[in-house]
Amino acid sequence: MKFALLLTSVALSEKDYHGFKVIRASWESSEQTELVGSVLERLDTINLWQPESFENINYTRTVDFLVSEKEAFEFKRRVGNGADVVTLIEDAGDIIAHQATEQKRATRGLRGASYPYDQFLTYSQLEEWILANDDGELMSSEIIGETYEGRNIYGVHLGDQDPTSNKKKVFMECNIHAREWITPSTCKYFIYMLKSAKNGVDLTPSSFSMQELLDILDHNWYIIVSMNPDGYQYTFDSDRMWRKNREPNQGSQCVGTDLNRQFPVGHLTEGGSSNKCSSTYAGVEAFTTKEAQIWREWFMKLRNSGGGDIEAQLSVHSYSQLIMPPWATGRVAIPEDPADIDYQMRVSQRMQSALFNVHEKVYRVGQSRDVVGYPAGGTTEDYSYQTLGVTLSWVLELRDTGAYGFLLPADQIIPTAEETVAMFIEVSKELSSRN
Ligand SMILES: [Zn+2]
Repeated sequence: MKFALLLTSVALSEKDYHGFKVIRASWESSEQTELVGSVLERLDTINLWQPESFENINYTRTVDFLVSEKEAFEFKRRVGNGADVVTLIEDAGDIIAHQATEQKRATRGLRGASYPYDQFLTYSQLEEWILANDDGELMSSEIIGETYEGRNIYGVHLGDQDPTSNKKKVFMECNIHAREWITPSTCKYFIYMLKSAKNGVDLTPSSFSMQELLDILDHNWYIIVSMNPDGYQYTFDSDRMWRKNREPNQGSQCVGTDLNRQFPVGHLTEGGSSNKCSSTYAGVEAFTTKEAQIWREWFMKLRNSGGGDIEAQLSVHSYSQLIMPPWATGRVAIPEDPADIDYQMRVSQRMQSALFNVHEKVYRVGQSRDVVGYPAGGTTEDYSYQTLGVTLSWVLELRDTGAYGFLLPADQIIPTAEETVAMFIEVSKELSSRN
């Protein structure tokens, strides 16, 4: 950790987003894409939210971006009638500052297991929480690797701790993208809800029962609560909008690789960038980052450890409210639909309706590359499905649909987690029903 402390102490002061707006733009033809795209690329202060890279901007979906007030005005002036423009967030800096103050106030003086669940935790707090909750019975944790800045990555095992357990396995990673704060919070609350149920404390919402939750333990769950600790901590210390990891790139001033573009299926095809300064920089080849290597090593270790195989894989992201089986890779690299798409869609639709029943949130369902509106090569989802042979693999994009985006308020953590757990229960039921 010494190295990490050193880096933290020399880090630049926090990036200030006061006066920055989040804008949503939409338009109707490919000709206008050129106009809007060229205006967007010339904005100095732009931080793209959806899609994540300029190459993926097209007229079939809206574009959400953060930009200074001055350039927001400039954007509207230059595109004129060429696009519909709405302001989603008037002042992102206000929200960031408010959340930071609340976060500090709500966690001050607390330790380990006592942190509130309706608050985001810094990485060291999250780490403390994991260690404090490791009871060796329902939940165990292990250090599965170390990041560039020297932080530990933890793998959590929920379920039967007997090493000879024959149960099927579910593999899940959260927070592979740094700024998606709702994802480690949701995965953490899932663990808490299950542990509480095991102790007879019912935290389930009215749409599913404690018994249905406990039935999840028909399988062994393996969860990486934060896949990107360096990037995540950086969003607290320096830049709330950071997405990648924090490892420097040789020959470039620009830091970081998009960890969910680092896997071999479709690597550096559409949606993954070879530009080191891009927020979707995919690395010169697959598995150049420690985090991606750690993901693969833990997966292989679990698969080879005997007992049941890994039969489902979940990659938890935000935002947009989507339930997406493969492919994420574009049709140039993989023209055909997945062989299992009908089956994957059937299970996805059951997850969608179980989720809706919790808080009536509507999540859309479909192949990643279709439902998001752009392809992304090099994801854990496609690697799990194609290379590792996990038929049920998903990207889940949690709340919301853009009112707050990555700045989702902390009071939505518990409801978001509740509806997400409803999806996990459906995955579990599906695995139980298979031979
Ligand atoms: Zn993401």
